Amino acid sequence: MRKKNNQRREQPPEGVPVEKNGEYIADVVGFGHDGEGVGRVDGFTLFIHGALPGERVRVKVLKVKKQYGYAKLLEILEASPDRVDAPCPIYKQCGGCQLQHLSYEAQLRWKRQLVIDNLTRIGKLQVAGEEQEEGVAVHPTLGMSDPWRYRNKAQVPIGLGSEEGGLVGGFYAQGSHRIIDMKACLIQHENNDTVVAAVKRIARELGIRPYDEESGKGLLRHVIARCGFNTGEIMVVLVTNGKDISRADELVGLIREEIPGVRSICQNVNMERTNVIFGSETKVLWGSDVIYDTIGDIRFAISARSFYQVNPVQTEVLYGKALEYAQLTGEEIVIDAYCGIGTISLFLAQRAGKVYGVEIVPEAIEDARRNALLNGVRNAEFEVGAAEAVIPAWKQQGVTPDVIVVDPPRKGCDAALLETIVAMRPERVVYVSCNPSTLARDLRVLEDGGYRTVEVQPVDMFPHTAHVEVVCSLIYKGFDSLKC
Ligand code: SAH
Repeated sequence: MRKKNNQRREQPPEGVPVEKNGEYIADVVGFGHDGEGVGRVDGFTLFIHGALPGERVRVKVLKVKKQYGYAKLLEILEASPDRVDAPCPIYKQCGGCQLQHLSYEAQLRWKRQLVIDNLTRIGKLQVAGEEQEEGVAVHPTLGMSDPWRYRNKAQVPIGLGSEEGGLVGGFYAQGSHRIIDMKACLIQHENNDTVVAAVKRIARELGIRPYDEESGKGLLRHVIARCGFNTGEIMVVLVTNGKDISRADELVGLIREEIPGVRSICQNVNMERTNVIFGSETKVLWGSDVIYDTIGDIRFAISARSFYQVNPVQTEVLYGKALEYAQLTGEEIVIDAYCGIGTISLFLAQRAGKVYGVEIVPEAIEDARRNALLNGVRNAEFEVGAAEAVIPAWKQQGVTPDVIVVDPPRKGCDAALLETIVAMRPERVVYVSCNPSTLARDLRVLEDGGYRTVEVQPVDMFPHTAHVEVVCSLIYKGFDSLKC
């Protein structure tokens, strides 16, 4: 049962000038990591969802800690010139996007500034500015000309609702597991909205029962829609709480009828009481086990569970920068650490002598090998394992890379990998990062190991969200001075 929020004010910790449930006027002075406003009331910090720097707002305090608190935005007294009306009608309830109330141009500026702040504070790097020419060049964020409808994959939870004939599918209401039915998501490709709407309608028509998280009963848990932007191919994955779908043939028939571009209809079975979307068993109900898409000249096979960048337009921009920073002439030996399904590796292989890719997920390496074959790439070799274990082994075997590309998950590179990079001393390192704070930490280690960060390029892979992607070029200082 949910506790009723009683409006009683609580005694704040000593020295804290605000009380829980109290209302205050706050001046917003900056952004937090998730794009929330950082407000001040008598010098005390409040994180305020939906408030923008430069604004004066009336808030209600929700939670108070010793050093900071959280508050709800009640009224904007003075608005920022960067404020816009969020076009999505469910923006406030959903939580999938964090920045729709900020103009796109200001979003791009904020993302660059966040990178600069991390590089200077955590990485202790000197950033070249308007007045000072020395230092790392942090370029303006490369944004999208049309920053909507950019996602190629939707993962939509299905549940039991009181409306819409019992079956609803959409998003979890913020801070809860209640599913709110959704008709459209403005950052999804239209195809994905069409697929999800069609599957929901068909499931209702056929009496397929939605999964109920509370009881663990019901069948349909998630609908995953994927589409190849450049090929138009569509994949539908139904995640079910059980192996059998009654009337499966009718289901497949209706999906094919309603969605002409569909090339693959799969079922994934997940009978665990868990928040994890996929179970371990995937089978093809109809069509192929993969769909295809292209990035630049490279064709990729995408299976139900493979990792594939969700914004294909900006992926090409990001990889293009990585390629530019690698400065390949056709001769070089390149290592792609954290290679996933080989996307960057295959992109680089076109211009390199040899590419070695390493990745910890075995299925991803299978995909990488398959994608190499698909594209006739013969100069790429892939190995399963932790980058920090496999790359030292390659070193032992005499592999001497000219360039090492890293694209680690949010936690950044393992310390042992950074140590190996410094020991292998490739002329260039290209660092692709989805987390500016771990990027800054790792750049410091590489700098101390003899590298110089030359260029930093933020790329907006996820417009309207607080995610920031960056690609950086580093050069070994020995090579640097030889060139001077
Ligand atoms: N470069 C790829 C994938 C980047 S995502 C692309 O652009 O598509 C980061 C990848 O690192 C994931 O595929 C994850 O499985 C992998 N990974 C995580 N820890 C790892 C480790 N210690 N060693 C190697 N790969 C790892």
